[in-house]
Amino acid sequence: MSTVLLNKINDVKNTVKEWRKEGHTIALVPTMGALHSGHASLIKKAKEISDKVVVSVFVNPIQFGPNEDYDKYPRTLEADKKLCDELGADVVFAPNAKEMYGEKKLSDTELTFVCPPYNIVDCLCGKSRPGHFDGVATVVLKLFNIVTPNYACFGLKDAQQLFILKNMVNDLNVNVEIIPCPIVREQDGLAISSRNTYLSADERKNALTISKALKEIQRLYEQGITSADVLFDSAIAVLSKELDLEYLEFRDYDTFEKVNKVSKNTLAAIAAKSGKTRLIDNIIL
Ligand code: AMP
Repeated sequence: MSTVLLNKINDVKNTVKEWRKEGHTIALVPTMGALHSGHASLIKKAKEISDKVVVSVFVNPIQFGPNEDYDKYPRTLEADKKLCDELGADVVFAPNAKEMYGEKKLSDTELTFVCPPYNIVDCLCGKSRPGHFDGVATVVLKLFNIVTPNYACFGLKDAQQLFILKNMVNDLNVNVEIIPCPIVREQDGLAISSRNTYLSADERKNALTISKALKEIQRLYEQGITSADVLFDSAIAVLSKELDLEYLEFRDYDTFEKVNKVSKNTLAAIAAKSGKTRLIDNIIL
């Protein structure tokens, strides 16, 4: 059976109703499209763990800041649908903004938002992207309510997003199991991202030092170095000076508290701009 493309919320709801009657389990893979092998790994995982797979493709306006790349974000629905077909996804749900949010003004003066706690939003990516995680949590809860999946697969590449969504599901008693999936990289180590298409050859070369810096942290940690300050300095020495570093932080993966001494469960996370393109990457030690 080939993948069915649905644009309307009601069509998804009706499809899900039929699946439920037949006793199927459902996994959701939320994406913004421009699908690549990172997304493919999530879809493969979803296929493994459930009978039916829905891939949502929606560039969500309310998670972009006014000076971010909402308008120029790559939109490649035809190719996305083809990949979903090859991977055996059952439905691609690709609504437009009006279908998702109706005629309302996309601001908290009119729209109900999910606001994750300040402590986990006002750090790392949230610090430079005010409102971003409110937009993410809001659209993900909407997608959960539309698709009612048993499982939802998310990439560890967006570690803070994953942490925030795990908290949302727990705090709001959402009946969905969040499945974390490992980061997929290019052969040379660059974390795959839809935004990599923006990079010039030079910008890509500089961007590669992000994963190199993380590898250096891993290498030194395996040699017994646990001081976050020492690891920070060693990683900075590896990062290209051409990058505009936004943060390099060490946090406990389970609590997201900052750590001075790293250990087995520490997340080392980097955000940096290469040219105009903002990139993120991380490792869990
Ligand atoms: P996006 O389309 O960028 O919103 O990403 C959709 C999902 O794919 C998110 O859960 C991301 O964490 C995940 N993802 C993006 N890039 C990768 C990657 N390189 N490896 C694994 N998962 C990824």
